[in-house]
Amino acid sequence: MSMKVMDSLRSSVKGSVVEEGDDGYDEARAVYNAMIDRRPSAVVRCQDAADVAAVVRAAAEDGSGVAVRGGGHSVPGFGTADGALVVDLGDLTAVTVDPGSSTAEVGGGATWGMVNEAAAQYGLATTGGIISTTGVGGLTLGGGIGYLARAYGFSCDNLLSAEVVLADGRVVTASADEEPDLFWALRGGGGNFGVVTKFRFGLHPVSEIYGGPMFFELADGPAILAYFAEFIRTAPREFGGFPAFQIAPPLPFVPEDRAGEPFVAVAFCIDGPAEQAAKFVQGFRDVAKPVAEMVGPMPYPAMNSLFDGLVPRGLQHYWKAAFLEDITPESLSAHLQHGPLVPTVNSTVHFYPINGACHDVAADATAFGHRDANFALVIAGMWPDPAENTANTAWVRDYYAAIEPFALGGGYVNFLSQDDQPKASSNYGANYGRLRTVKRAYDPGNMFHLNQNIAP
Ligand code: FAD
Repeated sequence: MSMKVMDSLRSSVKGSVVEEGDDGYDEARAVYNAMIDRRPSAVVRCQDAADVAAVVRAAAEDGSGVAVRGGGHSVPGFGTADGALVVDLGDLTAVTVDPGSSTAEVGGGATWGMVNEAAAQYGLATTGGIISTTGVGGLTLGGGIGYLARAYGFSCDNLLSAEVVLADGRVVTASADEEPDLFWALRGGGGNFGVVTKFRFGLHPVSEIYGGPMFFELADGPAILAYFAEFIRTAPREFGGFPAFQIAPPLPFVPEDRAGEPFVAVAFCIDGPAEQAAKFVQGFRDVAKPVAEMVGPMPYPAMNSLFDGLVPRGLQHYWKAAFLEDITPESLSAHLQHGPLVPTVNSTVHFYPINGACHDVAADATAFGHRDANFALVIAGMWPDPAENTANTAWVRDYYAAIEPFALGGGYVNFLSQDDQPKASSNYGANYGRLRTVKRAYDPGNMFHLNQNIAP
């Protein structure tokens, strides 16, 4: 970046600008996935929409790229890039809840933990991710799957409006009434259209849920997965949760001699009366005897941070994703061949049910392109040791190759890796054509290209 542009940027923003050679550069350029080692020209810790607009204008003047970082959880590391200017939203984390209107205004760099804690003060919540440290920004713009999705839709279905800095530096509000095409595209089209500095969400009455994990022998996997697939078709919407392949962590509720072994697990998060919830959970115990469990009433924010310890910052990440109509008997043998090979306690395979309220929204009402699917599958390779990169990446790839024939085509954009970019059109699904039209209108020069990119 030219010194002239950099000097003018430094003098025009309120936030810090950290360049190569500055103190804290290595910390500022790092993202959550430790596999990503990139050297941006500068990281700008933006303080408001005007700071973001200044960075975008500087990048346009200089011809350099812009990487936008919300929570920094992107597996392909889209929140940083060689030679780019990074819009770091890490200081835009204010969350203001209005209990009167059951809405929350959320800064573009907030994490779900911040939203859950603030909303819980009023017995409210909205659909967010299952890990508290994930960013609201990337997760919502790609769709947003979580425990409350069957009850209240994807995170993007609860978005009421957004303050957006566009590629030309203008700051606009997008909602059903203002910039409606942009608002449509923000709800599933990822970070392709601008930088969201504020989100406004609708909230719902949610306080104590009934949930936690339950581990079953691999030998009981077929019965548990088949039961889940059947149960979830008609399960009440307050039932949130998903089956998984997971190595049991060394925690007090896991028998000491079984920690470190792979299991078929079910994570429950039921937002309903405890007595009724306990009956749903008992249904699974009636199918097979759990090896370990820690299920009971807890505050919703506690459930949303229960697994945080398994995914600390600084792991290596390689993920693949697919949409499924069902967990069919034909596909089960592929899952049962590869799932139990889950290589580390950090890695996991989740089958997220996305029926219920997610299906209430018309397929073309938002940009999220796969409303026909009943499950979003993620094969999430996560491990601490870079020496294991080849082997663990191979596990993810082999698993994905085995289940691809049973999948609907495309994968959830937030669960994909960098090498999934060539499949962008199928990943955005049926709405890709309209997304390109909106991209041409709002970002014809593809300023915002560090994402699962929609080519203008
Ligand atoms: P970032 O890396 O900051 O950003 C990701 C992308 O979004 C980038 O392209 C970035 O430019 C863009 N972006 C971020 N914020 C903004 C903004 N304010 N304005 C414009 N563009 C922005 N997904 C789910 O749906 N449900 C889950 O339960 C879930 N759990 C996860 C758990 C872990 C441990 C991880 C690593 C990921 C998980 N994900 C989940 C996937 C997650 O949705 C994506 O990684 C998402 O991109 C993270 O958003 P972020 O803001 O943290 O990431």
